[in-house]
Amino acid sequence: MEKVLGIDIGGTSIKVGMFSAEGTLEAVTKIPTGEIVSEAAFAVVTEGLKNLLAENGATPDDVIAIGLDVPGPVDDEGKVGMLANIELDPEGLQAAIKRTFTKANLAFVNDANAAALGELWQGTAKGANSFVLIAIGTGVGGGVVVNGKLVAGAFGAGGEIGHVTVKRDETESCGCGRKGCLEQYASAKGIVTQYKKECKRLGIEPVALDGPTDTLSVFNAHRAGDEAAIAALLGMCDTLGYAMAQISVVVDPQVYLIGGGVGGGFNLYAEDLRNSFRKYCLAPSAATRILPASLGNDAAMYGCAYQALLERGA
Ligand SMILES: [Zn+2]
Repeated sequence: MEKVLGIDIGGTSIKVGMFSAEGTLEAVTKIPTGEIVSEAAFAVVTEGLKNLLAENGATPDDVIAIGLDVPGPVDDEGKVGMLANIELDPEGLQAAIKRTFTKANLAFVNDANAAALGELWQGTAKGANSFVLIAIGTGVGGGVVVNGKLVAGAFGAGGEIGHVTVKRDETESCGCGRKGCLEQYASAKGIVTQYKKECKRLGIEPVALDGPTDTLSVFNAHRAGDEAAIAALLGMCDTLGYAMAQISVVVDPQVYLIGGGVGGGFNLYAEDLRNSFRKYCLAPSAATRILPASLGNDAAMYGCAYQALLERGA
């Protein structure tokens, strides 16, 4: 009864999925953790994992692979780089998990890369040889799969699609310190910012917004025919399609998948995005399909489990 665990590491809790070796999700649990930097915190994680298994009739010895996805860079060797948004000691946690799960192969994966692998294993990209996932949430992340394998890069920056430069004359800075990154226009925050700018330009009163990343309200305004919302999403599609055209001259994927929270509104802007991509891309890439991702917030949990399983077989 071989099991695989996928652990999605967030700022205050972890979400764990227990899978069969074939990729069927059999159980999910959430474990509140806080900072994961002490032996006591590592024990909370390992105890939580043991409980999940016990509740489902399995033991630590059944586990053959464990994947952990983190919101930060992980290079091709699986080494975790600087984590800006969470408190985690990856080496310490790895050692604690290895002591409990002696038969399991462990792998760390960047969260956007993990989401891409998840879609490859059990989502829209199942069977695709080459595709690029663009995860649009608070920021813009990405995962690049070529010949069925993730391209994480020599320094872990592979797939950092949010930081493709799309406007060289931008004066405001991106979170990365550079200016004119895709993320500044096509993230949830970027869309809301552009919406407000369009309202000002058109002299329209903005709809009520629940914070700086409330794309749901902008989408609803779009559905109601709000001119500023329509212009903001057209602008988003223009910069995103432009960035995708640049990616295609390097990777030339079969498929682009749009995921993350903003991916939920895909039908609203799908045609505009396809038109924008075709406007900017090199002719041979015009046949590239652009589709919505299918695993939602679970994609990264699937994907890190899959990576750990792949590495075990390698
Ligand atoms: Zn940037």
